[in-house]
Amino acid sequence: MSDSIIHLISDLHLDESRPETTQHLIEYLSGPAHRAASLYILGDLFEVWIGDDARDSVGEQLIEPFRQLAARGTRVYFMAGNRDFLVGDDYCRRAHIQRIDEPLLLDGVEPPTLLMHGDTLCTDDADYQRFRRKVRNPDWQQKILSRPLVWRKLLARFARSISRWRNGRKPAAIMDVNPQAVHECFRKYAVQRLIHGHTHRPAVHDVDVDGNARQRLVLGDWHGRRGSLIEIQGNTARLLPLE
Ligand code: MN
Repeated sequence: MSDSIIHLISDLHLDESRPETTQHLIEYLSGPAHRAASLYILGDLFEVWIGDDARDSVGEQLIEPFRQLAARGTRVYFMAGNRDFLVGDDYCRRAHIQRIDEPLLLDGVEPPTLLMHGDTLCTDDADYQRFRRKVRNPDWQQKILSRPLVWRKLLARFARSISRWRNGRKPAAIMDVNPQAVHECFRKYAVQRLIHGHTHRPAVHDVDVDGNARQRLVLGDWHGRRGSLIEIQGNTARLLPLE
């Protein structure tokens, strides 16, 4: 393990129906992840999460691998995405993961680097931004979590089919980040580098913000046995396939 190596992953969308991706993550956690002093998971680790008390079977499978990674000295941080925003303190405590809010400025990294899931940059999707405001409200979350599990399962299934139907009708550009929102983000947080996931469009973009060279790195999603990783070492951030 090297102190200067940071790993970032996102959008694994783990689900019982895709065990090969869960297996791929477990292999990563018990191998390549050891190189990193810190691992940041930038949201959508799980396809759906209806509360820690549901004891999600994929979540349970990951507890031991996460614990072992932490025991070897890699700190693991979790930032919620638009699918797993109900992951709570109880699960994080059991898995030895630390929950972090977005956006997060990486401590001690040069050039200044900001982390987020990425959904807040997709401002053209007004529908979704309305939904997001609702479900990220702590009162709403408390209300939902106090409902019986069966009810939450049904709600999740319903929400998923609605979102699939809606997204299928949206033009592709609406589902990507809005360039203005990206520029505003660089200005607001005065960072030189932005790292996010969510759009499933892995790339390294050079962005000109008011005449200054900036960089936006986008993590890819995980599918089957194909993953996506960003490794930061010293001043360099690299986007890597994880096979
Ligand atoms: Mn997402």
